[in-house]
Amino acid sequence: MAIFMLLAVFLAATKLSACATCKEDNEETYSYHGSTNGPKQWPQLFPDCNGDMQSPIGIQTTNVKKDQSLKKLNFFGYDTAVRRGDVINDGHTVMITLGDNVRRGITIQGNDYYLQQIHFHWGSDKNQGAEHTLDGRRYEMEVHFVHTNSDEETAVVGVLVQMVSNDNQAFQPIVEVVSDVLYKNESTRLQSTLNIGKLLPESPASYYGYTGSLTTPMCTEDVAWYILKKTQTIGKKQLQTFLKVYSVEEEDKNSKCLLAPNNRPVQNLNGRVVYASK
Ligand SMILES: [Zn+2]
Repeated sequence: MAIFMLLAVFLAATKLSACATCKEDNEETYSYHGSTNGPKQWPQLFPDCNGDMQSPIGIQTTNVKKDQSLKKLNFFGYDTAVRRGDVINDGHTVMITLGDNVRRGITIQGNDYYLQQIHFHWGSDKNQGAEHTLDGRRYEMEVHFVHTNSDEETAVVGVLVQMVSNDNQAFQPIVEVVSDVLYKNESTRLQSTLNIGKLLPESPASYYGYTGSLTTPMCTEDVAWYILKKTQTIGKKQLQTFLKVYSVEEEDKNSKCLLAPNNRPVQNLNGRVVYASK
């Protein structure tokens, strides 16, 4: 009997340790999976994350306000291939900063917003990592194209990405360097030409728009969000490369410290209206 009791205690302990979080995650200012600084704790740690215009949100297409006067999104410079892109794992995402001084961006009501960086939120097909949901569906990945204007106002274009069996060549220049930044603070440069316009879905001009926040601390509000109606695809093997990315440095490598899924749960709308362009 005692042996059974011991066995039960041993099994319980094993199970507990399997559920334990990545210790190093709790040493960060914020994390996705830490027990003391995960998304549930962000509102206590960072006051703005407690605001009433937070992102991401769940978009219900039956509940959006169709506004025929809303112009479609106008992209400029996206057709010019990226000559220099710096890629970094900052422990929260993989981010590409554009360093080629090409004017790329979007025009909103006559106001130009310039593309500063692109980053990714991802998960597996079982535990999807997109941030915004569309009619309750969560895609495997979401790409954020972060823009700012001359008044330091932020506009983010979000592209929802579905995992499929075939590779998407548009992602290949990124996938081939993700394996060089598997650990926190690793960085590299794009090795092949990145056609940034090809990362967008076909006919990217139609969107769901609303006012929200950055989805990571400090959760700064007054961000103009444009979630494209059309979605993109990524190959299963390509996504698997992202799933090998850690939130920690190589010396702390541990299966508990894989970064995915690096997404914040959906936030309350609090009466905000989501607009749908044509
Ligand atoms: Zn993001």
